[in-house]
Amino acid sequence: MRFHRWALVAALLVATSCSRSGRGSDGPSIVLISIDTLRADALGCYGEKRPTSPHLDAFARESVRFTRAIAQDGVTSPSHASVFTSLYPIVHKVRNSDLGLGNGLDDAGKVIETFRLDRKIPTIASVLRDAGYRTAAFVGGGNVNHEVGLDQGFDLFDDAETNGMNGDMRGLFDPSRALAWAADHAHEKVFLFLHTYIPHSPYLPPSPWDREFDPDYTGKIPTNRDAFFAEAAPEHADRERRFWGSVDPNDPRDLQHLKALYAGDVRYADSAFDAILAGLRRAGLVDDAIVVVLSDHGEEFLEHGAFEHPGELYEELAHVPLLIHLPRAKEKGRSVDATVQLIDVFPTLLDLVDAPIPRNAQGRSLLPLLRGQSLEPLPAVSEHVFRWETRSAEDRTVPMPQDLVRTVREGNLVYVQRIANTYRVREELYDRCSDPREQHDLLKGPGYDDVLAHFRDVAQKHDERCRDLAAQFDGGESAELSRQHVEELKGLGYIK
Ligand SMILES: [Zn+2]
Repeated sequence: MRFHRWALVAALLVATSCSRSGRGSDGPSIVLISIDTLRADALGCYGEKRPTSPHLDAFARESVRFTRAIAQDGVTSPSHASVFTSLYPIVHKVRNSDLGLGNGLDDAGKVIETFRLDRKIPTIASVLRDAGYRTAAFVGGGNVNHEVGLDQGFDLFDDAETNGMNGDMRGLFDPSRALAWAADHAHEKVFLFLHTYIPHSPYLPPSPWDREFDPDYTGKIPTNRDAFFAEAAPEHADRERRFWGSVDPNDPRDLQHLKALYAGDVRYADSAFDAILAGLRRAGLVDDAIVVVLSDHGEEFLEHGAFEHPGELYEELAHVPLLIHLPRAKEKGRSVDATVQLIDVFPTLLDLVDAPIPRNAQGRSLLPLLRGQSLEPLPAVSEHVFRWETRSAEDRTVPMPQDLVRTVREGNLVYVQRIANTYRVREELYDRCSDPREQHDLLKGPGYDDVLAHFRDVAQKHDERCRDLAAQFDGGESAELSRQHVEELKGLGYIK
């Protein structure tokens, strides 16, 4: 007799009647919500003291909260691709469209192409669709775009600038299109992916959250959203330039205000989350569904010398929220302190609904942790490629990463490895117990040779495994960027 994993999950749940009809057999719908650029410690349920996230905190009290979830990349496209494929960035090879060296720029520096996910790679949407799910995504566009292949497996992938998910930062968040779809399909088994850029720069939360956390500021950073957009030129790039051009990075008062505006944006995202959840509940989609909330990366406020998310992988960028809500779970508000990775989300969800986990998935199911059991600790690896090997458009061989930064997190230690022109050039080591913000590089002192040898070995084995796997996938396709995509990228500051 075939044993259904869902039966296992059901043992976690209080048995109540639940009937579903539509595509596929039994099993819950899945809602995956990505709040872009949301560092974990910006939420109350992850330690923020200001009231930035009352609704997400309430949701966390009904969910399993992973206290140490690590993103696989520090920027949007590759991090989401890792969530969708359970592959590390150097395996799926998706990259952001930005001003990174050689990343699809023509001789004049104009972005003309990006790198599309190999169509052979199964995604969470394609596997769930094969398992009988109706699949849809409503996303903020920009670097979460069909042109980089993140639409693979979706029956509907809505990345229109005007879809209300805040890809056009001028408009306020309005999930009505996504919720209308949910209402139309609530009788089916669905996989719904929702994504918003609300906490992404420029930080322009609407009233009252624009002044909520720093009402006394009188400096130059624009605080009033309506006034900013009324004065700003229609071009996206001008908005981004105007916002950051008003910031004095050497003025602690400006830094304080930036953080307050970001906190206001997080509060705005929290209200958007509440609107989504309430709408899905009205549509009848939440109570029987698995709901996951995560972010693709965090945000930096000069902790390591930069703003926003420049591809680095320190704590403020790699540590993201991860909340998994199981329908009618017996245990409420449990937290799991084991270090987990975003590539684990894909196999976990498939495991929960008894769908086949692709053989090449590099993450693992967290079902034992959801059930209150333990899993063997594994190192968490993150990596960001700053420069890929340059290839001609006709060359379909697998490109190799040239310059990258990689982190390995194991226990309380964080190992950082920087590689330039394929050679290891610099390493760092941090102890999160004594140095949770990763400020004091232990390798500036003696006594860590054995630790270093261990982490080099872990990194090398990871690299070898990834390269073997990467070679199985096509070198990818060049995808010319649409005008809309370029405009969205300008609005988010990726193209100047
Ligand atoms: Zn992002």
